[in-house]
Formats: sequence, C-alpha cells, structure tokens
Amino acid sequence: MTKPTITLHKGDLPAGLELGASVAVDTETLGLNPHRDRLCLVQLSSGNGTAHLVQLDRNGYEAPRLKALFADPGVLKIFHFARFDVAVIEKYLGVSLAPLYCTKIASKLARTYTDRHGLKDLVGELLGIELSKQQQSSDWGAETLSQQQLAYAASDVLHLHALKTKLDAMLAREGRTAFAEAAFAFLPTRAKLDLAGFGEDDIFAH
Ligand code: MN
Repeated sequence: MTKPTITLHKGDLPAGLELGASVAVDTETLGLNPHRDRLCLVQLSSGNGTAHLVQLDRNGYEAPRLKALFADPGVLKIFHFARFDVAVIEKYLGVSLAPLYCTKIASKLARTYTDRHGLKDLVGELLGIELSKQQQSSDWGAETLSQQQLAYAASDVLHLHALKTKLDAMLAREGRTAFAEAAFAFLPTRAKLDLAGFGEDDIFAH
C-alpha cells in the first residue's frame, strides 16, 4: 500500500470538501465512558488512501459541516464498532447518524469460524495488512497530536471500505445480508440505549 495522505483540520471540515456517497468514520476520545470522556478527534476517509482528521474544539463542538455530513441520509457512514462512536458523536455533536454500516457486526455475522473481530484481526486476515495499535491508549486530549498519533488515527479509517467489500461478499455467500442490514438500522437506537443507561442490560434476554 502506498503511503496515505493525512490532513488535519481544526474545529470542522473545510468548506467544499467532497467525500462521496460512503465515508469511513472513527473517533478518538479521552476514554471509554461517553459521559465522562470527551470526544477529541474524528477521522474520515472516502476509501481512496486519504484521511481527513478533525480535531474538535471542546468549547461548544460547533462543527456545522461535519454535523451535516453525519446527518446526510445520502451518505453511508462506515464504522468499526459503530455502537461506541455513534453514541459519542450523538452526545458531543448532538447529531444522530444514519445510514450506518459496521464492519464488526458484519464480521460477527459472516466470520463465525473465529471470535477475533478486532480491526487489527480483520485487516490482517482479509486485506493482508499489518496494523499497529500502539497509539490506541495515548492522550487524545493533547493540544498538539504527534505524527504517530495522526498516523494511527488515520489507519483506523483507511481500510474500512476495503473491509466492507470483503465482508459484504461473505455475508451474501452465507445468506446473512438481511440480518446485517437490520442490525445496522438498529444501531442508532442501540447507541441511544447506551447513553440512556441500558449499556449492559440485554433487553432481549428473558
Ligand atoms: Mn480509532
């Protein structure tokens, strides 16, 4: 793979940036509790080897162009473990995301021969690319992010389109496309349930 292009934006996406009909999205936060740990960075890619990183302003989270993209019904938002990112984005940017695709859910429905559904596992097995997770737990609240942090953050969105292509074929092969689509459609509600305190409760359980 050629070296990716990474562009860092402060506060919001620049005007006039066209990312197409499907955009890979990831976020970096200060931790794993959306009620405690603020949203710091949003990463986007249209799947062409370029990543756009938006470092958000913690005072207000005004990012009208980013919010418009997330709310656009004509743009598919592709995540890995969308449940977390969608809840964080909803909490801090106040926008409900749709339509959605989650490579982790697709993997769980299609790759029943394994219990390894991490992004690193998927990218390694399906794309033959070695992904480093070294910067995962670094300080994303820092004013100035390091080159290593930016490269890591970008790597989380650069491969999601290629993964989706592989996973869609596997889902179709196993006759599970409809399950995946129904699960993706439920994701905004799943994220809202998490924020409302139903994180651990399985509401489908007896
Ligand atoms: Mn990430």
